Amino acid sequence: DDSSPAAAGTVLLGRYELGGLLGRGASAKVYIARDLLTGQSVAIKSFPNPRSAAGEGRRPVAIEREAAILRRLRHRHVVRLHEILATRKKVHFVLDLAGGGELFSLVDASGRMPEDLARHYFRQLVSAVRYCHARGVFHRDIKPENLLLDDSGALKVADFGLGAVSSSDAGVLRHTLCGTPAYVAPEILSRKGYDPAKVDIWSCGVVLFVLAAGYLPFNDASLVNMYRKIYAGKFRCPAWFSPALRDLLRRVLHPDPGARIDADGIVAHPWFRDGAGEDELAR
Ligand code: ADP
Ligand code: MG
Repeated sequence: DDSSPAAAGTVLLGRYELGGLLGRGASAKVYIARDLLTGQSVAIKSFPNPRSAAGEGRRPVAIEREAAILRRLRHRHVVRLHEILATRKKVHFVLDLAGGGELFSLVDASGRMPEDLARHYFRQLVSAVRYCHARGVFHRDIKPENLLLDDSGALKVADFGLGAVSSSDAGVLRHTLCGTPAYVAPEILSRKGYDPAKVDIWSCGVVLFVLAAGYLPFNDASLVNMYRKIYAGKFRCPAWFSPALRDLLRRVLHPDPGARIDADGIVAHPWFRDGAGEDELAR
């Protein structure tokens, strides 16, 4: 078996004592755990081992790619990989615990947050995304479920399961269809190849819109109609958005990836800089 019971009701995984389920995604289950050596709490993302019967049909390369990506990244707004434990049935990633839950738990009853607070978290998101891009890593699935908070309330980007790494092929257009419908960039839908950096920027824009508006910029009960709206890149900002925020969103959610603002452009934009403390901008 995977685990050896140390005391009744205690499940051990190496030096970690396993606790309750934190969340689940398409590929894995995530548990809280305690490092018995340090007393520190961690998150353990458990995949069925693709080399076992339970993991049959899963691609070992997908887990290996996610691990390779996480090993390259060390940033205060990216969930860090501590180590990997493999058993016969499972592969476990030991990760920083994002104990504050999802970013979207901070929205109010109408599903949104004040513009200043949205800016606060958007800055942290963009800082993580810029760092990843500079390291040649593209997330490709930036959406609310993958944006978590740690115990101090800092944003942590999680789930690089759809991530891509560029090595010598920087600038090469990608063709893999991936992402989550409402957050997917129009050039992915047109299937002519895309720059993964621009796709991440687009989904950051959708996240920003949702945080400040409380609803999606492109939405429809029919997926086909939603894709049409994304493709046209037409959206309406709610009345309470400031002119600077509207301007930034028009540049980020630009349907032409060639005309879309990049990460450096976002950081230089007046809305992004507005009210920023020097320390926050210097990061
Ligand atoms: P999948 O690749 O299957 O989508 P995720 O990595 O997105 O798995 O994790 C699934 C869910 O588990 C997340 O949406 C989140 O709620 C929770 N989760 C993931 N990583 C952590 C973490 N480091 N700390 C706390 N909760 C996490
Ligand atoms: Mg996920």
